[in-house]
Amino acid sequence: MGLLSLGTPMPWEEAKKYADHVRKHGIIQFLHLWEARKNDQKDTLLWGDEIEYVVVSYDEENKNARLSLRVREMLDELSKEEEEALNNPEKHIVVRTSWKPEYGRYMLEGTPGTPYTGRPKDLVTVEANMKLRRQLAIEQMKPHEIPVTLTSFPRLGCAGVFLDPHYEPNGPASRSLFAPDEIINAHARFPTLTGNIRTRRGSKVAINMPIFHDTNTPRPFIDPTIPRRNLYPEDRNAIEDGAALPDHIYMDSMVFGMGCSCLQITFQAVNVDEARKIYDQMATLGPIMLALTAAAPIYRGYLSDVDCRWNVISQSVDDRTEEERGLKPLKHDRFVINKSRYDSIDSYISTDPSNKPEYNDIPLVFDQDIYKKLSDNGIDDLLARHIAHLFIRDPLVIFKEMLDLDDSESTDHFENLQSTNWQTMRFKPPPSKTSPIGWRVEFRSMEIQLTDFENAAFAVFIVLVTRAVLSFGTNFYIPISKVDENMKVAHHRNAVLDEKFYFRKSIFPNSRPGTPHSGTPAGSPGASPRVSHASLPTRPATSPTKAVFGSLDRTAEEYELMTIDEIINGNASKGFPGMLGLVHSYLNTLNIDIETRCELGKYLEFIKKRANGTLMTAASWIRKFVREHPDYKHDSVVSEKINYDLIKTIEKINKGELVVPELLGNFSV
Ligand code: ADP
Ligand code: MG
Ligand code: MG
Ligand code: MG
Ligand code: MG
Repeated sequence: MGLLSLGTPMPWEEAKKYADHVRKHGIIQFLHLWEARKNDQKDTLLWGDEIEYVVVSYDEENKNARLSLRVREMLDELSKEEEEALNNPEKHIVVRTSWKPEYGRYMLEGTPGTPYTGRPKDLVTVEANMKLRRQLAIEQMKPHEIPVTLTSFPRLGCAGVFLDPHYEPNGPASRSLFAPDEIINAHARFPTLTGNIRTRRGSKVAINMPIFHDTNTPRPFIDPTIPRRNLYPEDRNAIEDGAALPDHIYMDSMVFGMGCSCLQITFQAVNVDEARKIYDQMATLGPIMLALTAAAPIYRGYLSDVDCRWNVISQSVDDRTEEERGLKPLKHDRFVINKSRYDSIDSYISTDPSNKPEYNDIPLVFDQDIYKKLSDNGIDDLLARHIAHLFIRDPLVIFKEMLDLDDSESTDHFENLQSTNWQTMRFKPPPSKTSPIGWRVEFRSMEIQLTDFENAAFAVFIVLVTRAVLSFGTNFYIPISKVDENMKVAHHRNAVLDEKFYFRKSIFPNSRPGTPHSGTPAGSPGASPRVSHASLPTRPATSPTKAVFGSLDRTAEEYELMTIDEIINGNASKGFPGMLGLVHSYLNTLNIDIETRCELGKYLEFIKKRANGTLMTAASWIRKFVREHPDYKHDSVVSEKINYDLIKTIEKINKGELVVPELLGNFSV
């Protein structure tokens, strides 16, 4: 959508004059869409994954793994099948894979050509499609280039990381001390987004990840590689203004976050109520899956003390002004805003009665006028607040030619805000009034894994969890502030094994907390599967002004701290089935042939082992690889050679030339 629209993007000073215009028309567009699609009914699940790759270019002579900036050419080739199909519908070409550009000019994004269904037979084709994508990508590359599914490229932002021509970090969009603008996707949208975030914020973005203090890492750690420069006014941000914190890895450009790769899953629900239900239920799993998929321990050439990317991206696009961040009293801006536009969700939106008001315990900042406009047009309280909350942000990229649109047809202004609220979950309305695509939900917290086997396992697992959720009518609600606490904890080094997370004790409907059978595994009489697509009762809207805070005590007995092992694998002594218990019970209700069940079983077995610590996360494995490398000086520095060897090793694993039982057990990739 936004990506394809060509035109002249406005610099921030100009764009901000049209912010209200875009918001106002975005809401009108949403209302048109709502009227046209609110009663949509689909009969099947459709879903798809998104895999992001970085394209690495080996410099064999110098034993360096750099990033290739040739991705545009590759994308043109990779997209030919889809284009051909689009232009020649009469040929009925089966589109196997679909490709999109990403923020980084060294990044590729691949999805299946058409969405999968939820049929078990279809689920076991996911890995093959991911492998095909990797293969097709490789075919577009030169012998020294490879696609790698690595969440954060270890030496992004270090000198020498780009291929010829050599680019200096002095670009006007990011003004970064480390990353040249040339590594940003050249489409006007991306440099504009970068520049406008910086201008709106009033300073460069400041990303600080705690350094991993190894035995020889200086204390305090003051990064000697931060250059002193006098080219842009923002050059003083790092040191003079104190943006670069001691004992932290400092990064100053959007690319450090948006240049990370992740694994996203989008599901189409049968109707809008089901989408809202999935949104809420899966939101509570966002931090759990972040910790379980943790794959990003290195930033800008240093080992960090975090295992995953989320906070890096969050800080990398934080366009809030000082007033919005609460550093100065409100004068020019409208709201103090608690989070970056890239963050965990702030409210549950389901109309199911199990979504009690007290679970929405984060004071929600929302635009009152927009809320009123939505309410006056029949949008219920929870959805109106959700959208009015997304719309507290300004549109960041506005194309001059795209200001005045037919609001009854276009969704561009709505999508402008919607698609730049990058949260753990995304509630996606149909793309247009007439699109065959229905109401969807996107699960966005997972990190990309090193192999297609792992990515398929996590994708299939998440899809099966959503099926179990609908089938058993689960209730995962905990106060949403607790989900935020989980999100923080998920970043900790080795959180998957060392930390505990808030989770609901009794996850079946109508089970009272503390009763002995409240956690009866699904499939037993305590929890008979419900018709998966039963329409959900709605409840009367609650008043947005109704105070729900201070009522936490009422929910306190509903949840407790659990390990990820318990959350995923269950705890028999507590009668808690775990997510895998749910999934297996769900599969038991289906009629599946043995072969398919075994195939799915492999993925579930793998997830089980990651969750109970039998297998390492990618983050732990990468950290171990670095620390055991003969060149490593135990000073947190990930050198060119270490990085090169790491990428080579990952390549070998993908080719099946190297077996790493600590990461993958005896599963064959
Ligand atoms: P975005 O980047 O906005 O999340 P993409 O187009 O990159 O969107 O990815 C969307 C994902 O949704 C893909 O995996 C695709 O297969 C999947 N998908 C496409 N159509 C549907 C549909 N009708 N229902 C569910 N998922 C779909
Ligand atoms: Mg995408
Ligand atoms: Mg993407
Ligand atoms: Mg995207
Ligand atoms: Mg996506």
